[in-house]
Amino acid sequence: MKRTQKMTLTTKVLIGMGLGIVTGLAINLSGLSQPGSLTQIYLVDGLFHIVGKMFVTALKMLVVPLVLFSLISGVIGIGDVRELGKVGVKAFFLYLLTTALAIAAGITVAATLGIGEGVHLSTQSSFTAKEAPPLSSVLIDIIPANIIDAMAEGKMLQIIFFSILLGISILMVGKKAEPVVKLVEISNEIMMAMVNIIMAVAPYAVFALIAKAIAGLGLNLLVDLAGYVVVLIGVLMLHLYGTLMLILRLFARVNPAIFLKKMKDTQVFAFSTSSSNATIPVTLRTVTQRLGVDNSVASFTVPFGATINMDGTAIMQGVATVFIANAYGVQLGLTGYLTVILMSVLASIGTAGVPGVGLIMLSMVFTQVGLPVEGIGLILGVDRLLDMVRTAVNVSGDATVSVIVAKSERKFDPVIYNDPEAGILTTEEAIHIDPSIEEELAQTIETLQEKKS
Ligand code: ASP
Repeated sequence: MKRTQKMTLTTKVLIGMGLGIVTGLAINLSGLSQPGSLTQIYLVDGLFHIVGKMFVTALKMLVVPLVLFSLISGVIGIGDVRELGKVGVKAFFLYLLTTALAIAAGITVAATLGIGEGVHLSTQSSFTAKEAPPLSSVLIDIIPANIIDAMAEGKMLQIIFFSILLGISILMVGKKAEPVVKLVEISNEIMMAMVNIIMAVAPYAVFALIAKAIAGLGLNLLVDLAGYVVVLIGVLMLHLYGTLMLILRLFARVNPAIFLKKMKDTQVFAFSTSSSNATIPVTLRTVTQRLGVDNSVASFTVPFGATINMDGTAIMQGVATVFIANAYGVQLGLTGYLTVILMSVLASIGTAGVPGVGLIMLSMVFTQVGLPVEGIGLILGVDRLLDMVRTAVNVSGDATVSVIVAKSERKFDPVIYNDPEAGILTTEEAIHIDPSIEEELAQTIETLQEKKS
């Protein structure tokens, strides 16, 4: 068959990632990444930067219209509005559960291994704390005063709120609103086609993003902080392959190996962009078209998860808290750690999944438990790489919960889930336009114009 001869996009994206790592390492280790060197100016900060930035911006461009249309059509398509509440409550508690398990694992492993004890490192640079927003303002902020403003700012919870309300209102208007239903449905399909276009260039963009990130990594810092880095990555992997897959198996009774296989390119997108938010279009595509979750569930759980669910980030916060507390010789005690867990879970609700936000959340937690915020400077230098890894774990958590909620709501298609070919793309398929349809649509436009004149 055609697909077996032509490489799938997933394979290409993985190759892009591999080549990106090799190129980045080569530039870094050969010293070509020194500031002012030609390679740095024209390649790393030039070509790689431009290609990478254009790609991430293109993904971000898709997020708001995609969430809007898919969620409105999801609400209309759910069949019974009461289901909506159930989906929301289930997703919310599962997100809280996975985040709490994640941070607890981070703290337990790091504390057992005693990481950070006897570390005498200078802080890389200063870090200024940010106050955690009070829960009251997180709640008030769910409601947009101006939806255009919310969309312009990409405020996900506000967009979710508005879309749900709009979907319900369309249902209330009923039969008369049918043209709007059709418009939303078709617009959703069109946005998904746009996701495919962006996917077609992903292998090159992923290469550029990863090569740039790795070229700029302080590799000697990685060695200095090896304890922290290894423990953190270890717990991240434990959570991804252990906890999440166990939960998936127990709650959804599906084969985790298939899930992991199909999530690969979404994880690479998250890894290379360091942003769960920018990855929403790809996560949504994978969850609906490859994992068999109905759009009525996924259109809510995916953007909701990208905002409130950050398992990888929670793990980082747990491990970093222990590391810095030990490095500064501060005893946090059980209450201290419980406060850390509670604060991290709360902090994750109000903060969006964008690059580096984990450190800001950490500073909120530190101010609450009285740990020195300047301690964050210790880990700042290695955070770029760790942000990439934890974002991949964050999106995997969102997808896991989406499958579980869909399965429990009978909005899950096991045939799609179990079909290895479902939703898979090649570059040609991603940007395919059927010539006969092209002609037909041109005809339609012509007829319409003729009618007008
Ligand atoms: N970059 C992460 C995300 O987008 C958040 C963080 O840990 O900084 O999910």
